[in-house]
Amino acid sequence: MDYTVFADYHTHTYYSHGKGSPRENVEAALDRRLERICVSEHGPGHFSFGVRGKKLEKLNAELLDLRREFAGRIDVLCGLELNVMGFGRSDCPKGRDAYDIIIIGYHKSVPPFNKTALGVWGESLLGIKNDPHKNAEAILAAAESCRANIISHPGLYLKVDVPYMAMCCRQLGILMEVNSARVTMTKKELIAVKQAGCGLVIGSDAHTPGRVGDFELASRAVTEAGVWDAVVNARPV
Ligand SMILES: [Zn+2]
Ligand SMILES: [Zn+2]
Repeated sequence: MDYTVFADYHTHTYYSHGKGSPRENVEAALDRRLERICVSEHGPGHFSFGVRGKKLEKLNAELLDLRREFAGRIDVLCGLELNVMGFGRSDCPKGRDAYDIIIIGYHKSVPPFNKTALGVWGESLLGIKNDPHKNAEAILAAAESCRANIISHPGLYLKVDVPYMAMCCRQLGILMEVNSARVTMTKKELIAVKQAGCGLVIGSDAHTPGRVGDFELASRAVTEAGVWDAVVNARPV
């Protein structure tokens, strides 16, 4: 059975370190015949790419205008890709409920505001051997604190216990992302996510309009693992 992905919930623009405008991302999504497009810029806690303050307000206003303009043709969603700032901490700005989609992921270039973040930071920056189970707990607690909808690229920069994360995500109603810029979960892990009853979501993580709706790498991984029926933004064609 063939599947088509009808929504891209993970795209960036020039508001952070992407290349295109929000409008260009929306137009690219229309060209790709997507039904929904979300601009999910890096959260304010990211040193270099974080969108904050007036710039974030401007972006959100622009997305609302685009939503009105494109209504009936494509759903334009307002999102953010937040950062894990420590154990159970995110950089969620005020007004969480104004966002349609909250993604959270572990990124570098984020200061550890909380010493319990050492478990998260240890491996990539401090050389401390850490525990994939604890890393998963740190990220899950941060995801819960901001009521995240999606955990982006699980395992990127930092090993996580994927089956455990999937079990918790199912209970919390959080989706795990199959990132199409770089697939971060193995075939075995993707199967474990499905077996845990957790939903998967494919995201392009596009940083240029040309990559909006580019689901090639993720689709290949999902096909190899045979887990299409767990992907919430895909349907059989
Ligand atoms: Zn990311
Ligand atoms: Zn991203």
